[in-house]
Amino acid sequence: MIVETKLLTMENITDAGEIIRRGGLVAFPTETVYGLGASAYDDDAARKIYAAKGRPSDNPLIVHVASKEEISAAARDISQDAKRLIDAFMPGPLTLILHKKSVISDGVTAGLDTVAVRCPSHGTARALIRAAGVPIAAPSANISGKPSPTTARDVMEDMNGRIDAVIDGGCCEVGVESTIVDTTRGGCVLLRPGGITFEMLRTVAPDIRKDKNILLPLAADEKPVSPGMKYRHYAPDAEVTVIEGGREAVQRKIKELISRNQNGKCGVLLMYDAVYDDAVMINGGSTNAEYARNLFAALREFDRLGVQTVFAEFDENDGCGLAVRNRLYKAAAYKVIRV
Ligand code: AMP
Ligand code: MG
Repeated sequence: MIVETKLLTMENITDAGEIIRRGGLVAFPTETVYGLGASAYDDDAARKIYAAKGRPSDNPLIVHVASKEEISAAARDISQDAKRLIDAFMPGPLTLILHKKSVISDGVTAGLDTVAVRCPSHGTARALIRAAGVPIAAPSANISGKPSPTTARDVMEDMNGRIDAVIDGGCCEVGVESTIVDTTRGGCVLLRPGGITFEMLRTVAPDIRKDKNILLPLAADEKPVSPGMKYRHYAPDAEVTVIEGGREAVQRKIKELISRNQNGKCGVLLMYDAVYDDAVMINGGSTNAEYARNLFAALREFDRLGVQTVFAEFDENDGCGLAVRNRLYKAAAYKVIRV
């Protein structure tokens, strides 16, 4: 049993690699969010990740490699579309679903014959993979269902005493998890939007489609393409409602909702100006890229401040809008008011 989680920095990267190689768990920074890493070749280590997060065992992990050349260590029969996406966007915040090689542990892929692979651009993440000498399986380093962590402090709040170490690398630049594209079912399908936008993907794979569940909850009897789609996600303790539209209408609606609120302290996640009395205000950002960077940190901060009701201002005004909307809708359990 782990009693104390060590806080490490880039200077301890050799030690961190050693922990992974010996079957331990290390959380590390990437350009998207903090990951919770273990050797992708080790079934027991994969099991420890599920236990530390309280993650359902049918929700597979992403395998991280240090260079695009190493993708072939994890995957086979890579399609032409997938090769073009790799050349265009890796290293970076893109994950591809590929056909799995048998060296990758079944625990990592939850028994699927496909594997999710990503080559992060973050220097510390790549240094850790190199130091470990094995591909690193890693989901986000949060308790399952909570907002993903974007600082080492967030990771510690969820994981202290559950994992061996956290490498502190400051804040994450993108702020939401990687874009996921499935390339194994003929053509390309966007399963999860992220920092590599649909428009960017389309320049390389013009026929790419969006999975219909990106902005909609699954029906009760529906089987998801990606197991992660069926679980509650990104949710703070506070109850979140998204108010979507232009500045004036959104502000008018939120003022009305605050005046009628009966559910504890109110908070507003701002895309526009700070105009609310009687509410804790946190700035999301005026562009969707900024909003993506601040979103999870803001949801966690509302919880720390004891806010019970959050109103999130939102308007999709640039390419990262789909990624923000997908996370916000899930955080709000699809409670959305369009004005
Ligand atoms: P996380 O790293 O916490 O964002 O979780 C990884 C995401 O990748 C989850 O939503 C998984 O369902 C998804 N994923 C991982 N492997 C596969 C796969 N082989 N096929 C489809 N989705 C996958
Ligand atoms: Mg996650």
